[in-house]
Amino acid sequence: MRSLDPARGAIIDLPASIWQAIGRGVRSRCPRCGDAHLFARFLKPMPVCPGCAQDWSPQRADDFPAYISMLVTGHLLAPVVIAIEIAFAPPVAIFAALVIPAAMACMLGLLQPAKGAVIAIQWWSGMHGFRRERRDAIVSASDNVSTGDNVTARNIKE
Ligand SMILES: [Zn+2]
Repeated sequence: MRSLDPARGAIIDLPASIWQAIGRGVRSRCPRCGDAHLFARFLKPMPVCPGCAQDWSPQRADDFPAYISMLVTGHLLAPVVIAIEIAFAPPVAIFAALVIPAAMACMLGLLQPAKGAVIAIQWWSGMHGFRRERRDAIVSASDNVSTGDNVTARNIKE
């Protein structure tokens, strides 16, 4: 469902839930509109979304995506490492030659999705200066504009 953003006069497909916003972030899409790329480079978000004009400069993902990548990589590789050790007990050099590249590939592969998810959570939660936006609030606000109701009072209630 697409919603009218009365502030910009644009049609924007806001996410229905935080999970949809996170899913868009994990796929490196804009969590707000889902139409445009979130990243200009590997871990550098677009300054402004070309699809919905969302300013991404307030995001403060910092080191959290790296922690997520390490945590997930550890949990994915630990059973594999244990299974290899039990089944084959390879020499340390061969073991390191297998596990270290696998761990690096897994961590690097997870960094951008993790950062997209963190940015999506920050945006959804209205952290660091992001404006909290909800699909229903914008729909009711645009209804209120057309009916002449008090938009501000309704939005504060939510
Ligand atoms: Zn967007």
